[in-house]
Amino acid sequence: MQAVIISIGDELLGGVSVDTNSAYLSRRLAERGIVTVRHETVGDDAGRIAVAIARAADEAEVVVVTGGLGPTPDDLTRKALAAAMGVELVEDARSTERISAYFERIGRQMKPSNLNQAMIPAGAEAIDNDFGTAPGIAAHLGGARVFVLPGPPNEMTGMFERKVTGRLPSAGVIVRKNLHAFGTGESDIGERIADLMARDANPKALPAGRQVGTTAKGGIISIRIAASGAAVGEADALAEKTADEVRRRLGEIIFGQDDQTLPSVVASALKAAGLTLAVAESCTGGMIARMITDTPGASEYFLGGVVSYANSAKVAMLGVRADLLEAHGAVSEQVAAAMAEGARENFGSDFGLSVTGIAGPTGGSADKPVGLVYIALTGPGGSTVHRHIFSGARNIIRRRAALTALNHLRLALRSL
Ligand code: AMP
Ligand code: MG
Repeated sequence: MQAVIISIGDELLGGVSVDTNSAYLSRRLAERGIVTVRHETVGDDAGRIAVAIARAADEAEVVVVTGGLGPTPDDLTRKALAAAMGVELVEDARSTERISAYFERIGRQMKPSNLNQAMIPAGAEAIDNDFGTAPGIAAHLGGARVFVLPGPPNEMTGMFERKVTGRLPSAGVIVRKNLHAFGTGESDIGERIADLMARDANPKALPAGRQVGTTAKGGIISIRIAASGAAVGEADALAEKTADEVRRRLGEIIFGQDDQTLPSVVASALKAAGLTLAVAESCTGGMIARMITDTPGASEYFLGGVVSYANSAKVAMLGVRADLLEAHGAVSEQVAAAMAEGARENFGSDFGLSVTGIAGPTGGSADKPVGLVYIALTGPGGSTVHRHIFSGARNIIRRRAALTALNHLRLALRSL
């Protein structure tokens, strides 16, 4: 079953407010097996709103419209819906009563314009608003169910939960799983699971199918899996089968799913193994320590870190030999290894993890360009140094370096 969501308001088109209602509604509809096929934003223009509603009702079985139900002359959704339905607006007596009672309750004088809000298209049904004055509207248009709700998110969400979900046609369930990968590009992943992502393999209208898509954000590639079925068990089984296939194809680059993050996964793995970590950071300036300590209870496995930005700090705090710095430079394999060793020895941890690199935008040279980062790890499984060249702005390079360092640790923990 499909839905179209229409958001109304000049303030949305002008970029003054951001449309959060549609995102919320899409998620909630999806939980009930209804797939949103289109979001549309329309200004406060009765003609355009009427056209949008009519088109949406042609296209989908469920249409949800938010906004434009206020008492002011720029709130035109009621009128537009009546036009799309080819009927007049009529007063809904119950809504008039509720609006009058609302003003009495809050002790404010009701304006005649407030009673405009009790006008609904003939044949439609008012939806009570327990959170404000504007009632919503439930109507039939062609083969579609149309729901109109007020724009303010607190009113809209409350009414949707209490008054709309019970009126939605039943459409099975959709189960979603999000697998997270790190260490390769979105295009590489896309090629390895292309057949699972093929649009023609996914009936546009769930139920009876699954959909696989990818999203890249901050270096993490997420593989979104949606599977539908008549009941949770069926949908969940299809989602899990698909997730298993994705895991099989992508192997160890998948680090977690849903709410898990790379730092949280590393944290769990350290905890499970009963091993401790200390870090030595140069260009990441404490980002790794920050990421690790974002997870509560990190003191169980994270002993501490040194932000050794200057060469003198690498010598004084980590025992990096001055002659290594002189011979190879601060951004080198040798110094990265010495930093990791120093962190491990000084903190007495099982693992020492270090990062040294050139985050830019200045400080690069022909043989040591901006983005060059060495990451060293020393621990129970031995010692490694990896050389990376990251691209992008300073903060992207730093974040990528921090995540990559955590990923090296994750992989080392896996192979213990
Ligand atoms: P309304 O009077 O029903 O048009 O809605 C008025 C207020 O609701 C606007 O000023 C916005 O702050 C908020 N609003 C309307 N539509 C949306 C939307 N799609 N997402 C988030 N907030 C919205
Ligand atoms: Mg408005």
